Amino acid sequence: MVQVPTASSQETIALFEKYVIPNYGRFPIALVRGEGSFVWDAEGNRYLDLFPGWGCNLLGHCPPAVVEAVREQLGRLIHVPNTWYTEAQGQWAQMLSERSFGGQAFFCNSGTEAVEAAIKLARLHTPKQRYKIITFEGGFHGRTLGSTSATAQPKYHEGLGPLVAGFVYAPYGDLDAAAALIDDETAAILIEPVQGEGGIRIPPEGFLQGLRKLADDRGLLLIFDEVQTGCGRTGNWFAYQGFDVVPDVMTLAKALCGGIAGGAMLTTKEIAPSLRPGMHAATFGGNPIAARAGIATLETVERGNLLGAAVKLGDLFRERLGALQEECELVRDVRVRGLMIGLELVVEGAAVVKACMERGLLVNCTQGTVIRLLPALTLTEEQAHEGCDILADVIRQQAVSEEQS
Ligand SMILES: *Cc1c(COP(=O)(O)O)cnc(C)c1O
Repeated sequence: MVQVPTASSQETIALFEKYVIPNYGRFPIALVRGEGSFVWDAEGNRYLDLFPGWGCNLLGHCPPAVVEAVREQLGRLIHVPNTWYTEAQGQWAQMLSERSFGGQAFFCNSGTEAVEAAIKLARLHTPKQRYKIITFEGGFHGRTLGSTSATAQPKYHEGLGPLVAGFVYAPYGDLDAAAALIDDETAAILIEPVQGEGGIRIPPEGFLQGLRKLADDRGLLLIFDEVQTGCGRTGNWFAYQGFDVVPDVMTLAKALCGGIAGGAMLTTKEIAPSLRPGMHAATFGGNPIAARAGIATLETVERGNLLGAAVKLGDLFRERLGALQEECELVRDVRVRGLMIGLELVVEGAAVVKACMERGLLVNCTQGTVIRLLPALTLTEEQAHEGCDILADVIRQQAVSEEQS
C-alpha cells in the first residue's frame, strides 16, 4: 500500500529552501516510504534503489527484524548514558568481536566519529613523539576536521585550513611511497581496504599485506576504515578477511545498524586500554536502540546467509556489467567486490544518474565518472537484472547521444 503523503515534493522543497542549510546537492524528490529495495516518492512513484541509504541500508529499506527490535526497545529504554551498563551493548560488542579479530569495541554514532576515535587511539597508543598518520589519495574518512584532514582529496580541504597536523598522503597502491613517508613521528597507517567514495578501487595484489608488514616492522598501528566495506558488504563480514591480512584497529558505521545511526571502533584487547577512561567518549554511543538494531542486522545477515548472497549477486553484476563494457565503449572499467560495484565511464556520470532516476532506478555517481552501486544484500536476482537492464539501456542511449554531439 502506497501511503498518501500530506505534502508534495514541491511543497517539501519549498520548506527546505527557506529553513534548511543548502550544503547538499539534492534531487528534486521527497521520499516517503521504503520497503526492501524499493522506495516511493511523495507523488507515488516507485524506484528500484541500488544505492539504499548510501550503503547504510544493508538489508534494504525497513528490514522487518530491525524494525521489530527497535520497536520493542523503544518501549523499554531509549537512551541511558555510558555511565551504566546495558546488556545490548555488551552483546553487540561480543558479536562484532567474534566475527572479526576478537578484540573490544568503542561505540559512537557515525563513521567520522569512529575514525576520530581511531586517530586518538593511534596517538595515545604509540610513543609520545608519534602523531603522524599515513593515508591514501582518493580515500575518504569523513567530514569532521580530523577525518577530513585524513581524507587525501584536495577538493574537500578548500578553505578549511589549517587542517589537523600530521596527515601525510601516499598514492593508493604504492607501497614504496608509503614506506618512504614513515619517520620517527609516524603513529599509524589508515586505509580503506577497498576505496568506496574514491570510486570502488580495489587494492593491488599484496598491497594490504605489504602495509601490514611495514606497520609491524616500524611499530605502527594499521587501521582499516571499514565504514563502507564492513558488515557483509563485500561478501565477508569485513573486507580485510578477503585479503588475508588483519588490522590492529577497524572503524565501522554505515551498514552497521541496518539503517539506524551507529558507529564503532574495534581494536585488540592489548591496544584497547590506551583509550583510557576520560580520554574519549560519545554521549549516544552504543545506545540501546543502535545496539538492538546492530544485533538484529548481524543476525539477519547470518540467518539469511546473506554473505553468500552478496558474493553471488556480485558475480551477477560483474557478468552483466562486464558484458556491457564489452559492447559499449562508454564503459571504461567495471570493478566489483561483493556488493560494492563501480562502473567507470569515459564521460561524466551525472546524466546517467538522472536518466536512470527518470526510469525509476536509483544509482550514485562518485568521482565524476564512476557509477556506484551499493545494493541491499536482500536484493533479488530478478531485481538485479531489472536494474542492470535499465542501467545498460541508459548507458547505450548515452553512447548514441555522445556520438551525435
Ligand atoms: C561514509 C564514510 C565515512 C564517514 O561516515 P559518516 O557516517 O558519514 O560520518 C568514513 N569512512 C568511509 C570509508 C566512508 O565511506
